[in-house]
Amino acid sequence: MSKILIIEDEEAIADLEKDYLELSGFEVETENRGDVGLKRALEEDYDLFILDLMLPEVDGFEICREIRNQKNTPIIMVSAKKDDIDKIRGLGLGADDYMTKPFSPSELVARVKAHLARYERLIGTGVQENDIIEIRGLKIDKTARRVWINGEEKNFTTKEFDLLAFLAQNPNRVFTKDELFKEIWDMESIGDIATVTVHIKKIREKIEFNTAKPQYIETIWGVGYRFKV
Ligand code: CA
Repeated sequence: MSKILIIEDEEAIADLEKDYLELSGFEVETENRGDVGLKRALEEDYDLFILDLMLPEVDGFEICREIRNQKNTPIIMVSAKKDDIDKIRGLGLGADDYMTKPFSPSELVARVKAHLARYERLIGTGVQENDIIEIRGLKIDKTARRVWINGEEKNFTTKEFDLLAFLAQNPNRVFTKDELFKEIWDMESIGDIATVTVHIKKIREKIEFNTAKPQYIETIWGVGYRFKV
């Protein structure tokens, strides 16, 4: 049974999340203080974290950063403010998903299931801790979810990182936009294959010296994309 830790200081919200997740068959524990939550997250074994942003003692930003330094466990961050979500995305703390309060409990359950399934696939493929890909000046740390180009670190959103890492670990293989969309956005209903094009463009702006002549992600006209090695 998958075990989830909810770090949330609003008791009513924590209880609601816990009830729904337990009804879906998960084992759930809750913690209302940031410092205690962080300690438990690091010391105990959980399969997923649901992390509120504003917490007493230690906030969700710091907790997310500390967990990611040590663990690859999926993290879903929740916040009452849309602006905060944009901020955490921008910081590239390595959270796997973000939700703005109020959200429907069934939406939370759906996302929890999707992230657990995804994480299990990742573990199942034998991805090692500190798995690092290095190709011609591009360095991707899959565990820390960080990217450097010629030694300079670049900030990636969750999906940009997922897309780049997926292409880089399947080099010289052509993927259609449809395949990429299904691979990276599999649990989300919104969006379409144009999302892939937009993300590829953003990734190129970060890693390519000349985006008109990409040296990493090549466009195969009429088909899709290929990561060149
Ligand atoms: Ca809070």
